[in-house]
Amino acid sequence: MKKDPICKMDVSEDEALTTEFNGKIYYFCSEGCRDKFLKEKTHKFLTSYELVIIGGGPAGLTAAVYAATLKMEVFLITKDLGGQAIDSTKIENYMGYDFITGPELIEKFKYQLIHSHYIDHLISEVEKIEPVNDGFHITTSELNKYFAKTLIISTGMTRRRLKVEGEEKFQRKGVFYGNIQDFSFVQGENAAVVGGGNSALQIVKNLHTVAKDIYLISDFALTADPAIIERVNHFKNLQKYEGFKVIQFTGENTLSSVSIRKKAEEKTINLSVKGVFIAIGFQPNSSLISHLVKLNERGEIIINSDCSTSYPGVFAAGDVTDAFGKRIIIASSEGAKTALAARQYILNLRRKGG
Ligand SMILES: Cc1cc2nc3c(=O)[nH]c(=O)nc-3n(C[C@H](O)[C@H](O)[C@H](O)COP(=O)(O)OP(=O)(O)OC[C@H]3O[C@@H](n4cnc5c(N)ncnc54)[C@H](O)[C@@H]3O)c2cc1C
Repeated sequence: MKKDPICKMDVSEDEALTTEFNGKIYYFCSEGCRDKFLKEKTHKFLTSYELVIIGGGPAGLTAAVYAATLKMEVFLITKDLGGQAIDSTKIENYMGYDFITGPELIEKFKYQLIHSHYIDHLISEVEKIEPVNDGFHITTSELNKYFAKTLIISTGMTRRRLKVEGEEKFQRKGVFYGNIQDFSFVQGENAAVVGGGNSALQIVKNLHTVAKDIYLISDFALTADPAIIERVNHFKNLQKYEGFKVIQFTGENTLSSVSIRKKAEEKTINLSVKGVFIAIGFQPNSSLISHLVKLNERGEIIINSDCSTSYPGVFAAGDVTDAFGKRIIIASSEGAKTALAARQYILNLRRKGG
């Protein structure tokens, strides 16, 4: 016999209705009990807000601070506070500072979020957004549920990963994504760059007076502009591996070598390196909302000049959008703009009696 978790009645295993939840089987005497159980489990909270912001990078944090200043009922849900900006070692383009590191700037953003205006927020991943009559239901990975009249999507983007062995382990311990400001740790050491576009070749250019030998590894023939290809071709310390795939990263505590293989060949080459810089493109984090809003061919959310999207009540800001320029200052200013636009949307709803 089993116990129905709702009415606490004993039920026989053979006759009971069942459901699986979080890997465990539950037994019920009736559909009513089963429905109540699922409702309780999946609707742990249904807290309502005028505005829910998803994503706490520069765009989402700025939107949250602006929305609070505009006296909106705002809630921020984000996997982390800071987003990609935390990885920037030296930001030279943010007004008010000659230069500042990403972590320092994010500390200041967080101070505004938490101390200057306490803004209700949750560190969690949003897994689902469903449109309902008068707004949206948002479900997090813990199955908490929230209601919002309007949404700001500021989920940014993720640099594409190679998805090979050792890549996660050596992240920031020799494996980096894109350009970094301070290459001093590879001074006089060997380094590799993965990718064949302009970004990859720009990194080669930046490394050429710093690193000993530079290995440029690309799956296909280089796709960068001919001018930059011609320029790097003159570098005596550059060795190109075109048509090669990265197989594995190895080392003790920090990276010491990268293994590569020519496509369709067996032989593996081990290159001894202190740093590898991967520049194989970006992926906008738009899949969460792709069922509602229009995306461009790169998967970015198409926005209007007020950050509205093709779906009423959904606004978007920062790197996840098709706005030109992927920069902290641009993401922040788009975040401010989107809060103003979301407030206007709420005022219009109120005028219509919503
Ligand atoms: C290594 C590096 C160096 C850089 N250097 C500079 C620089 O020097 N100067 C400069 O101006 N720019 C720099 N940039 C670019 C800059 O960091 C980005 O343009 C900026 O962070 C974009 O802000 P964003 O808020 O749009 O997105 P992001 O910073 O990407 O933030 C997105 C946020 O959304 C969250 N999120 C995503 N999906 C979900 C979900 N489903 N649920 C909940 N939360 C979610 C993420 O966890 C993150 O917190 C750099 C980027 C990198 C990677």
